[in-house]
Amino acid sequence: MKRIRTNRLKEINDIVTIVKLASLLFTAIIFFQYLLNGEEVLNNWVYRQLMLIAVGGILLFLLAMYLLWALSLEEKINKDKYRKVIFIENLVFIAIFFISVIISGGNESEYKYIFLFIITSSTIQLGLKSGIAVSLISSILILAMDIFCLTNSGGVNKFFQNDIILSGIFVLTAWPLGFYVKIEGEHINQLEGLVNKDGLTEVYNHRYFHDTLKEKVSLSGKYNENISLIFIDIDYFKHYNDLYGHQRGDEVLRTIGNILKKNIRSTDIAARYGGEEFALILPNTTEEQALLIADRIRSVIEKTKFYGEENQPSGVLTASMGVSVFPVKAKSDIELIKSADDALYRAKFFNKNRVETYTSILDDLKNDIDERDVELVTSIKTLISVINAKDRYTYGHSERVVLYSRLLAQKLNLSKEEEDTLIYGAYMHDIGKINIAQDVLMKKMPLLPEEWNMLKQHPENGVEIIKPVKSLQNMIPIILHHHEKYNGTGYPGSLKGEEIPYLARVLTVVDSFDAMTSNRPYNKRKTYEEAIIELRKFSGIQFDPIIAEKFIEVIEENKDRLDSLV
Ligand code: GH3
Ligand code: MG
Ligand code: MG
Repeated sequence: MKRIRTNRLKEINDIVTIVKLASLLFTAIIFFQYLLNGEEVLNNWVYRQLMLIAVGGILLFLLAMYLLWALSLEEKINKDKYRKVIFIENLVFIAIFFISVIISGGNESEYKYIFLFIITSSTIQLGLKSGIAVSLISSILILAMDIFCLTNSGGVNKFFQNDIILSGIFVLTAWPLGFYVKIEGEHINQLEGLVNKDGLTEVYNHRYFHDTLKEKVSLSGKYNENISLIFIDIDYFKHYNDLYGHQRGDEVLRTIGNILKKNIRSTDIAARYGGEEFALILPNTTEEQALLIADRIRSVIEKTKFYGEENQPSGVLTASMGVSVFPVKAKSDIELIKSADDALYRAKFFNKNRVETYTSILDDLKNDIDERDVELVTSIKTLISVINAKDRYTYGHSERVVLYSRLLAQKLNLSKEEEDTLIYGAYMHDIGKINIAQDVLMKKMPLLPEEWNMLKQHPENGVEIIKPVKSLQNMIPIILHHHEKYNGTGYPGSLKGEEIPYLARVLTVVDSFDAMTSNRPYNKRKTYEEAIIELRKFSGIQFDPIIAEKFIEVIEENKDRLDSLV
């Protein structure tokens, strides 16, 4: 819709520019007549030709300059400053027209109607008020000239009467035309409201959100400003709808829309992103400020009394939020949305009713790798977010595996280089799942043999993906062998014991532990104690016994800290 408005303004600007150019040509004729009228000019043929060429050249040059200037203004067509500049331009036109009227006979001139050009064009371009102002200025100039000539000549000025009528025509042209422009403008505003706002919550809608974010990101790219994005998702909203029906649910959405509108600045944009998801665009806001704002809103929602909220799982109706910021955490509007969404799902994962900011291990990785691989790592990051989106049950799996791996790396006294390899490998270990269908990943029933075969391909597929990236070569053995078993019954290589690369053995323990202790589509999650029993049971069968024991130590030492993770 915004684009429609800008296009409309541009088209109007084009038409008006043409009208103004035409009117300048008319004035040029008047000037020519004046210049060619003198005795000397008429009598001297050469002089007359030279004069014609010189004046014509200057005129063409001026017209071309004007055309360029008018077109350059189109870029700034939405700015307020533009209106001022155009108004001043109109005053210049009035001056030119006035001079042409004076030289073509002053009060006796036949060209006084020429002001109509500037009256209509300024009314169309700037609206009622400016149109009336220009018509009044033109009328006053003409009438003042009549009065001046009247007092000078001492006789009756027969033109004065005609000019009063002409002034009336000026004002009566500007007034209805201006009124029409005004009505049309209001109509467009109304339509814009309908097109840009969400009917239920009266915050902006999805389309407006995208258009605005794109625009703000491209602007702030120029001025080097931060733009923060907050994604908001109501917790257990399906549960609420199931209990009280959609109408009550809609009331909650409306209330939250209002809370958002009340708690943001006038420059911020609140939008309904989807069913029960909202988004806030905060221009010129750092990550720290956005986190404060998000947490304030989160707390307002938590404290607001909603009908029947006591039956929500946590006894109150709450929302989770994800924050990201351009350009610090994301380089484009698309990345900004993805990263805020990513942060939101982390907030959901860490027990909901909380605010999370976006962090990416791959961003750390970017600092460690070759310049020329950065782009490839960025595409890998995209792949990982696709997997996360496909497989929300296991959302956060990679992040948790990274976290466990860090703790275990210290316990195992790994070198810095080994630790980095393990961490990055841990983050990317499931990347080969990218081409596995979502329904297979989320399947609750046991997999069919062909589905199982497909799933078993993922270590090799993962290697195919990272192979072209030179800086990621060290991670290949980890990714390829993280499903090998200590007794040689794993895949893809059926490697046994120490044949399995050491870091792959480390990852197997960590990966399996997280699979046991997190919600999976196909089985219920185990407590830490149950998972430790399971690790011991399969020690030497599936897991390297020494690594498994070390990891159990890590879990027992960090139990309190880790508890908040599941
Ligand atoms: P979570 O805490 O993980 O966010 O769980 P959730 O139940 O909120 O799950 P999700 O975010 O996927 O919520 C989707 C639900 O939102 C499904 C539907 O019942 C509800 N919903 C979506 N759009 C509307 C709407 O326009 N009106 C109402 N009343 N409910 C909606
Ligand atoms: Mg949702
Ligand atoms: Mg929800």
